[in-house]
Amino acid sequence: MNERLEKVASALRRRGFDAAVFDTREQATAFILGDLPEKQEIGMGGSATLAQMNLDAALRDAGHTVHWHQGASREEGPAIRRAAMCAQVYFASANAVTEDGLIVQIDGTGNRVAALCYGPETVYIIIGRNKIVEGGYTQAVRRIKQVACPLNARRLHLDTPCASTGSCNASACTHSMCHLFLAMEGAPGGKRTQVILIDEDLGF
Ligand code: SF4
Repeated sequence: MNERLEKVASALRRRGFDAAVFDTREQATAFILGDLPEKQEIGMGGSATLAQMNLDAALRDAGHTVHWHQGASREEGPAIRRAAMCAQVYFASANAVTEDGLIVQIDGTGNRVAALCYGPETVYIIIGRNKIVEGGYTQAVRRIKQVACPLNARRLHLDTPCASTGSCNASACTHSMCHLFLAMEGAPGGKRTQVILIDEDLGF
């Protein structure tokens, strides 16, 4: 048992989230497949974590319909993002979570943070151990600017200062992926937000 992940899970529960800890991505996927009702309409936010889990394929194989813009053309993307926001269930990762359960998300388009707040009635947030930070909001944002953004910008071939230098220069950034910040102090009302912590490094 990873005591640090268990501590984060306890903090998340105090904030109104459902939270569960798994040793591996395979165990997490098995939990998700067993947890979902049959034949759900599912949306997914852009995420290296979800891609590394091959979660879209596992969900489709289990009979669910999946709306995921990752890998879609620029023309197809907006309609897929909108369908994902209107689905029954939504999957995303997080950009950082503090040891006391504050989840911090960034977004460039806004589809993901919108869906997390007031989209599908059931949301799963899947977080690898590498996303946990000591400290509070400031430390979470530092991780996002110094680790998540440069790696994600390179993954997405975005021409941002952090992609080329490793450092943020927001005033010179014309393709920002972090002009929207969402700090989830607690679970949104009126819906279930299930956080899944995995004792593996996943995503950025
Ligand atoms: S504002 Fe631009 S340069 Fe700064 S971290 Fe975000 S994407 Fe990178």
